Amino acid sequence: MRRTNSRTPAEFLEFGNRQVSVPKTETRAERVTQPPESSRAVLAIVLFGSPGSGKGTQAKLLSASLSIPQISTGDMLRAHVRQGNAVGTAVESKLKAGILVKDDVVNSLVAERLGQPDTARGFILDGYPRTVAQAETLCGLLKSRGTQELVIHLVVDYNVIIARLTGRRQCPVCGTLYNLNSRAPKVPGVCDLEGAPLMVREDDRESVIRERLDAYQRQTCPILDYFRQKGEQIHDVDASHDQPEAVFRKIVGLIRER
Ligand code: ADP
Repeated sequence: MRRTNSRTPAEFLEFGNRQVSVPKTETRAERVTQPPESSRAVLAIVLFGSPGSGKGTQAKLLSASLSIPQISTGDMLRAHVRQGNAVGTAVESKLKAGILVKDDVVNSLVAERLGQPDTARGFILDGYPRTVAQAETLCGLLKSRGTQELVIHLVVDYNVIIARLTGRRQCPVCGTLYNLNSRAPKVPGVCDLEGAPLMVREDDRESVIRERLDAYQRQTCPILDYFRQKGEQIHDVDASHDQPEAVFRKIVGLIRER
């Protein structure tokens, strides 16, 4: 996240049992009208949106700002593939083809991850749930631990998504994301932070991108209706044109209003 000295003082977001600094203008009077920290529920921030909508970028910004973990099922699955273990071997071809991994595999990875102590103060879900069956499992998990969800839907135009995904590059060492169209590295093809050669994710090839967008339409979008039927509010955030920092500020505004 870009931090400048021009931020107004006393910019805090109360989250879980602590206050964290956020880039939001706020007066002291507004801040003290917030409910006491102890009455605030632990929050699961569910980042929902198509591949290329910026879920990963926003999850990283939120994680750094709120000091709560980003739980990305895509990253977890890729880590298993890299390790070459049983889960990795079972899912590798699906990831390459842009096809969703079986619900029970992903559900158990998430259930196990949510059992770790760093999730006690809240967490950010990035890329999960991705099917109605996963949404049902998640709601059960959250209910059993008394965690409230806040569903943020990053809404992005189709053409913007295609441009983003085809231009996306990632540092294999630190995971920093770049985009040839909007956030190019200083030296072409090289990570600004690590100096490592940037990589194209295998599933960012055009034919695979179409498959992932298709899976999103068919399998993931119905989750929105599932949440609505349960009376869950979906917070739409236009993420087509704004810079990531501006999208981040909108999301922080929603977290504060809940
Ligand atoms: P993107 O959102 O850009 O497609 P991800 O890193 O979230 O990227 O996902 C990459 C791939 O990992 C997906 O195409 C799918 O094969 C697998 N995957 C990630 N999350 C899930 C999930 N919740 N359920 C099933 N498959 C998943």
